Amino acid sequence: MEFVYEALPGRVVLAAGALDRVADEVALLGCSRVFLIVDGAATAYGDRVAASLGARVVHRWGEAIQHVPVELAERALAAAQAVAPDVLVSVGGGSSTGLAKILALDLKLPIVAVPTTYAGSEMTPIYGSTGDRHKRTGRSLDVLPRVVVYDPTLTIGLPRHVTGPSAFNAIAHCVEALWMPQANPITSAMAIEGVRAIAASLPTAMRTPDDLQARADLQYGACIAGTALAQTGTGLHHKVCHVLGGTFNLVHADTHSVILPHALALNASAIPRELPALAAALGVAADDAAGGVWDLAGASNVPTSLVDLGLREGDLAEAAARCAAEITQNPVPVDESVFADLLARAFRGERPSSR
Ligand code: NAD
Repeated sequence: MEFVYEALPGRVVLAAGALDRVADEVALLGCSRVFLIVDGAATAYGDRVAASLGARVVHRWGEAIQHVPVELAERALAAAQAVAPDVLVSVGGGSSTGLAKILALDLKLPIVAVPTTYAGSEMTPIYGSTGDRHKRTGRSLDVLPRVVVYDPTLTIGLPRHVTGPSAFNAIAHCVEALWMPQANPITSAMAIEGVRAIAASLPTAMRTPDDLQARADLQYGACIAGTALAQTGTGLHHKVCHVLGGTFNLVHADTHSVILPHALALNASAIPRELPALAAALGVAADDAAGGVWDLAGASNVPTSLVDLGLREGDLAEAAARCAAEITQNPVPVDESVFADLLARAFRGERPSSR
């Protein structure tokens, strides 16, 4: 065995009611001037954090947008610079964490992240912002949250149309972590455990949104999915989802559950050592992991076919050509005909056969 694994620093607190510990975590960092970022849908949780911090909140910012538009980041940065904070506290999903990261990059301030979805961004040093004039993505330890506070009670009100796709995004991070070039036995162990935790809890959380144990398991799964993602990055699966979202206006978050079974079927031969454990995590036969992902999507009532997402059959050829043009790195060789086959299966919503 031979590998390189680089552990990242950071403190993780997971407990029902942990939201009320945020003020203590800020004090432990030795900070006293909080720039508080709160997603609009998490206003009530932001209120609780603000109340516990009292006068230590020097500014409250209430706007977060997917992929952090540069214009938003610039306004938030100006607001932060005006009040000279010494810590950023974000309460919300990947969009709120993403905004905190862009501010941290410029201001070199620690982040206390309080996630309210299963995005996993809070565990990574990866940042990104988008704009017409320039696009900035990268990796820096400056943006890795110093403290992550997971409180499963915050996700009980998460609507099913966010819970399902968000958890499938986390599963996709885990599955891709198995076949990326940077994968190693430590990241693979975390990725498989992440799949187990999410597979064991997602159908329950979708059926019974206030099941606190299921919500805690999903946050734990998202936490280790993000930890694995931080080491390995993303590959073919996420790129196919980006092509579908970007070119055909499909809702990006909904594409994960449709594409992942077929991306895994394609790449299964590249991960023979991990496949049986992955299948066990999904509760299916050793050679049926891709089918197990498809079954999980069905049991969780999330989309399994591109038809459900509104793609037209006439778009498939263009989608395959774009995927082939944009995706050249993959452990299993790919070309336009491979993508045409993958997308046709995803279009029909077929259950991948065992292999
Ligand atoms: P998000 O933060 O936009 O949240 C999705 C939706 O859920 C929003 O409408 C939000 O208002 C709502 N919401 C959030 N918390 C809620 C709650 N408790 N109750 C009700 N509604 C709530 O998106 P996301 O799915 O959390 O994250 C996606 C973003 O994160 C993307 O921009 C993606 O690129 C980024 N991301 C980054 C990384 C990284 O490592 N940098 C990793 C994963 C995702």
